[in-house]
Amino acid sequence: MRVDFSTWNELFQNIPERIIKRYKYYKRKEDWARYLSPPQTFAIYGMRHLMSLKFDSSLECLRLWGFVFNETERLFRAKQINKKIIAVMGDLGGIPPIIYSFKSLIGFYPDCLWWQPFFSENYNLFEITAKASFPETSCYSRVVYATFLKKAYFPKPDLIIASTGASCDDYSCVMQKINNLFYKNTQFIWLEIPPRKEKREGAIKLLKENYQKVAKILSEIAEEKLTMEKLILGIKRVNLIRRNYQKLKELVGRSEIAPLGSLEMLLLEFGNLHFYSDIFEWQKILLGILNLVKKRIKNNEGVLNKENKKIVWATPPADPLYLIYLEDNGARIVGSEYIINQALQIIPIEKYKNPFFALAESYLSASLIGKTKERAELIIKEIKKYQAKGVIISQIFGASHCAYETEILKEEIEEKARVPVLIIDIPHPSSEIPLQTKTRINAFIENL
Ligand code: SF4
Repeated sequence: MRVDFSTWNELFQNIPERIIKRYKYYKRKEDWARYLSPPQTFAIYGMRHLMSLKFDSSLECLRLWGFVFNETERLFRAKQINKKIIAVMGDLGGIPPIIYSFKSLIGFYPDCLWWQPFFSENYNLFEITAKASFPETSCYSRVVYATFLKKAYFPKPDLIIASTGASCDDYSCVMQKINNLFYKNTQFIWLEIPPRKEKREGAIKLLKENYQKVAKILSEIAEEKLTMEKLILGIKRVNLIRRNYQKLKELVGRSEIAPLGSLEMLLLEFGNLHFYSDIFEWQKILLGILNLVKKRIKNNEGVLNKENKKIVWATPPADPLYLIYLEDNGARIVGSEYIINQALQIIPIEKYKNPFFALAESYLSASLIGKTKERAELIIKEIKKYQAKGVIISQIFGASHCAYETEILKEEIEEKARVPVLIIDIPHPSSEIPLQTKTRINAFIENL
């Protein structure tokens, strides 16, 4: 059920034309809205890293991959069919429920393009950022600046929303540089995130007011009034996705044999952010995978060996190859803390008359606001819930924020959860993992 790239391509040949034609984005009927393509297509378009990875052989997961890699095309199409494109940076989770409450708005995160150099095994975006004087000692997220310059990964946004306040130093610089770019007819606004959540009431009030201001601007761009009913409906739709993802994560984490690999789970977790620019189709893809996992668990089927050691992974790995290597060498990921906790929690819509308050409260669960010890608690919760035997924290080579936090996380986890922690640096894009890192991962698994 976990296959290499060439087998994955061969399997595609067995899919009947009528099924390929069935799946379309933006609820469109036209042929251009299809997104199920032979995996070879992604590689031809530059995703060379796929040739080193392994994939779930199901149609449900092929649909997931096709949809994720089709996002750039989908965003350009959105523009052609008169949708308005909203780029959201740094906030990671709070704004999309508002955006997707409007009929004509599409939101996306340029932040997620930090994976681009790794999937394409290409240094071009790094070279462009270097020319723009970004130092090597900063997070890989700096490549997002280059994607704005290249104008090839997404169409010109109608609005850019960037967060300030509690945002990491590295990414704060990236957002400031993008703000300085001359972007004709593009509005750029800053959204303030409260740095601490101890003063809860004040933080909720600030966020609620900021969300209302953003909603007003979005309403002008969409030329559509945002009623409370529309916003509540939009939030309920987001909550349904988050609830289904929570169910999926629990099923996968608690099952005896892993019913789904960690790479597909990573894509699914990040789908909670902006639904890969089509919330309705995303809802269906997620549901399809949830049903697949239920079926596999019922039939006692899985994609990895039963003996694989359970671990929790913290901070998203810039290079997906590490997840595959870990699974091939006797481990499985049962829990994660990919610094987007705010996008995974249910928005408490029933608690408040005004839905903006609910959005604000939900955002206070963010991984990156508050003390590092609180983030350690999130990881410890995952360890206990899924009875993990160890934790891997991946660092971004040269980044400041994540690197500063890692040692504190390790101390807290080892002291409170009594499980070993391995810290690894993910170096620049490559088709191979460095030998020394492989040895450290192998030794860690052996000890477990
Ligand atoms: S250093 Fe960490 S928090 Fe900052 S942009 Fe990079 S991954 Fe995100």
